[in-house]
Amino acid sequence: MSESVSLDRSGVQILRKHLDLWAELADSPDDTWRDLDVPDHGNDVFRSLQQYTSIISRERVEDDAGEPYHVFQYTEAAWVYIEDALENRETYCPCEHGGVQNRGDHYVCSYEGCDDTFDREQIDIGGEGQ
Ligand SMILES: [Zn+2]
Repeated sequence: MSESVSLDRSGVQILRKHLDLWAELADSPDDTWRDLDVPDHGNDVFRSLQQYTSIISRERVEDDAGEPYHVFQYTEAAWVYIEDALENRETYCPCEHGGVQNRGDHYVCSYEGCDDTFDREQIDIGGEGQ
């Protein structure tokens, strides 16, 4: 894990706004990933994330054939934020992503990386976000 640095406001915003994507990239603070592991729908926002050295560290490594590539890893501050935000957010989405969109006779998960659809009975709306 990288040394601790604090997140600035815009860093926190990009983490909060795309929480489901960031959670998909790593399961633990020690996980690393390559840019080709980033799902297509997340490429643009991941490019923006790379400006934030307070959020991810980048290391250049070489594969067995000597081809260079970069691996990314969350900083400690970013990981703590992501984990905490995931634990504390209220979601009524059965797939545990951030929320659902009402499509008239059914609901769809609002995360671009998820195709789940739900009936009204499957989600616990409880007045939140409606
Ligand atoms: Zn989902």
